[in-house]
Amino acid sequence: MEDKKVALVTGGSRGIGRAIALELARYNFNVAVNFNKDEKEALNAVEEIKKQKVDGIAIKANVSNFDECAAMMEIIKKKFNRLDVLVNNAGALFDKSLKNMAKEQWELVLKTNLDGTFNVTKNALPLIRDGGRIINISSIAGINGNFGQTNYAASKAGIIGFTKSLAKELGRHKITVNAVAPGFIDTEMTKNVPFIRKRIIMAMIPIGRAGTPEDIANSVAFLASERASYITGQVIRVDGGLNF
Ligand code: NAP
Repeated sequence: MEDKKVALVTGGSRGIGRAIALELARYNFNVAVNFNKDEKEALNAVEEIKKQKVDGIAIKANVSNFDECAAMMEIIKKKFNRLDVLVNNAGALFDKSLKNMAKEQWELVLKTNLDGTFNVTKNALPLIRDGGRIINISSIAGINGNFGQTNYAASKAGIIGFTKSLAKELGRHKITVNAVAPGFIDTEMTKNVPFIRKRIIMAMIPIGRAGTPEDIANSVAFLASERASYITGQVIRVDGGLNF
């Protein structure tokens, strides 16, 4: 298993991250699953990964903490001694109109989503091989904005700027850097959206359904593949046509 390519998926314990981790395992990657709180879910994801005859490991690290991200890379270096694909997926939400948003709610979301992307990528960079892939999970909220999401949309728009800039820096190493911008995906994150709001969103999706974590995982697996080696600095919307 040592010769296999290695992927790290942050927030890989559930939802979109878990689907990405499993899809990359199906594509023959050894996979490191990062989590922050839920070790049981992360270990369960690793069990599923190993069913694909690849290796897996669960690593606890809060992506908003720079030192914990550095320690996570040491673990990956020790176990696999390489990193080929980094998926910055870990994310948090705390919706409030700006009028009602506390500073802590702004900071929690920015620190997890945007600082987290920096903390993980900065520490991963020395390990990522030439020809590698960095895939950042943004959101259509980062492109269009969304009511009650100044914090979330700002963090996800920041990820887009980060992606486009880093693509320019790493092109000479044939490392591609892209963002995937999901629309409304059925996960823990969206389960508390009020029923009426969900119905309004559903009516705005031309494909006529919420997205699944697998819809996002499929696009990430493509960007991680050899077939996507000439795509960099892009934001790929995976949203069923939703445009709010
Ligand atoms: P989710 O079900 O809430 O899962 C979030 C994952 O992130 C969990 O594995 C969680 O692990 C991890 N996580 C949260 N904070 C972390 C931290 N500080 N450090 C490390 N891991 C952390 O969310 P999801 O819907 O799958 O979302 C995944 C990504 O897609 C996020 O970036 C989100 O913004 C983006 N996205 C989602 C949607 C949607 O409709 N669902 C739409 C657009 C974009 P623990 O529980 O162990 O902490």
